[in-house]
Amino acid sequence: MVTSKDMIAALATPVGTSAIAVVRASGPGTSALTKAIFGEVPQPRVSRHSDYRDRDARLLDDVLFTFFEAPNSYTGDDTLEISCHGNPYIARLIVADLLARGCRPAEAGEFTRRAFLNGRLDLSQAEAVMDLIHARSERALAAANEQLRGALGRAMERIIAQLVNITARIEAYIDFPEEDLPPEDRRAIQGDLEILIQETNRLLVTGQYGAMVREGIRTVIVGEPNAGKSSLLNRLVGRDRALVSTEPGTTRDYLEETLSVGPHLLRLVDTAGLHEAPSGLERRGIEKTVEQARDAHLFLWVVDATRPFPIPPTSISALLKPTNTVVVFNKCDLPGVPLSESPVAFPHVRVSALTGQNVDGLIDRISGFADSCKTEIGDEIVAINARHSFALERAKSALLVASSKVVGREPVELLASDLREALDAFGEIAGKVDSEAVLDQLFATFCIGK
Ligand code: GDP
Repeated sequence: MVTSKDMIAALATPVGTSAIAVVRASGPGTSALTKAIFGEVPQPRVSRHSDYRDRDARLLDDVLFTFFEAPNSYTGDDTLEISCHGNPYIARLIVADLLARGCRPAEAGEFTRRAFLNGRLDLSQAEAVMDLIHARSERALAAANEQLRGALGRAMERIIAQLVNITARIEAYIDFPEEDLPPEDRRAIQGDLEILIQETNRLLVTGQYGAMVREGIRTVIVGEPNAGKSSLLNRLVGRDRALVSTEPGTTRDYLEETLSVGPHLLRLVDTAGLHEAPSGLERRGIEKTVEQARDAHLFLWVVDATRPFPIPPTSISALLKPTNTVVVFNKCDLPGVPLSESPVAFPHVRVSALTGQNVDGLIDRISGFADSCKTEIGDEIVAINARHSFALERAKSALLVASSKVVGREPVELLASDLREALDAFGEIAGKVDSEAVLDQLFATFCIGK
C-alpha cells in the first residue's frame, strides 16, 4: 500500500565538508526522475557511477547513485540515493536541481514518516531509528537495535492479543443482558486482567532503563569538600577520553558533562553545590545539589578514606539509598581508616583519583548498577520512552477500572468501554495513531533527510 502522493528530496547527511554527501529523493515518479537525470533506471539496489548534470546540462559532479524500487526501499516508495562529493555547495546544487525537476523539500522526519505510513515500520521502530541515530553508548545502541527489530512491537502484539481475547469473551455476554457472567468466568477474567496489569507494569518499569540509555545515566557526585570529587570527575573524563559534550544547563547554573563510562553514557551533573562546603554555610549550594539530585538515577558519594566516615547533611542523605548510591572511598593510595571502621550499608569501592587505582572497579560498579535496571521481556531488551510510558499508564488505569468493575459485579457492558480504552492506548505504542497532530509532533523531532 503506497500512500505517498508526491516526491520529496533532501540532503541525508550533515551540511559540511566531508568525503561524501548523500542526497535522497523518494515518492511516486522517482523512477522517471532517475531516468531523466541519468538516462536509465538501473537494476534496483545496484549502485551506478555517472556524471550528474542539472536540467541545463551543466555538469555538477561525478556521483554514485542507487535506485530502490517500491516497496523495497526505506520509505516503501521508489527512492533514489545519490552519493556526491561531500561539498555542501555541490549537495545544495543537486537538491536544488531535484526540486526544479518536481520534488519538494522533505520535512523533518518525512522519509521515516512515509516508511511508517507505508507499513515498513511500526511507530516504535520509527522512534528506534531516532534512537539509533542518537545512541552514544554500547547499551543505547543495543536497546535501539532491539526496538528497531521490533522487540517492543512484539511485546505489544502479545498484550493486545490477550486483551482482545478477554474483550471477545466479555462481548459475548453483552448480547444477553439478562444473563450475568457466571462467577467462574468472572474469576477467570479477573485473573487474566491481573496478568495484563502485571505485564503492563513490567513494561513500565523499563522506562527508567530507557531514560538511562537514551539520555545517559543522570549521575550526581556528592561528598565533603576535598574528598576528591573534582579529581574523580577529571579522572573519569580524562581516562576515557570520551567527553561527548559540555553544555551549560539551560535554566539553572549547573554544568552537565556527558561522558562514556564503559558501555554506558553518564550524564554527570556538576552543580555549584558539589564544590561547596556542605557545612551549613553554603546553604544555597546544597539546595542546588538537592534540586539536581531529585532526578538523579545514581549518586557517587565520594568519601575521603583517610578521614572518619562523614555524616552528610540530612537533605542529601535522605536521597541516598543502597539502590542508587555507590560510595567511593577515595585516596586509597594513602594509609587510610580501615573499612571496618566505616560501616556503610551501600555498595562501595576503593579508588585513588590521584593515581587512577581501581577506577576500573568503579566503572564496573556503575555498569553493574545500570545493567541491574535492565528488564528483559521474553529474552529481548525493552526500554520504553516517555511516549510509551504515557500510553501504558493510560492503558493500566483503564485495566484497573475494568478489574474493579469485574470485582464489583458491574454489568459487562460497562467493562467493554474500559477494555476498548486500554486497547486504544496499547495500540498507540506500535502506531495505531489516529491523530495527525501526534504524528507531526513525533516526526518533527527527526532531522531533515531522515
Ligand atoms: P573536591 O573538593 O571534593 O572536589 O576535592 P578535589 O578533587 O579538589 O581534591 C582535594 C584534594 O585532595 C586535592 O589536593 C587533590 O589533589 C587531593 N586528592 C584527590 N584525590 C586524591 C587521591 O586519590 N589521593 C590523594 N593522595 N590525594 C587526592
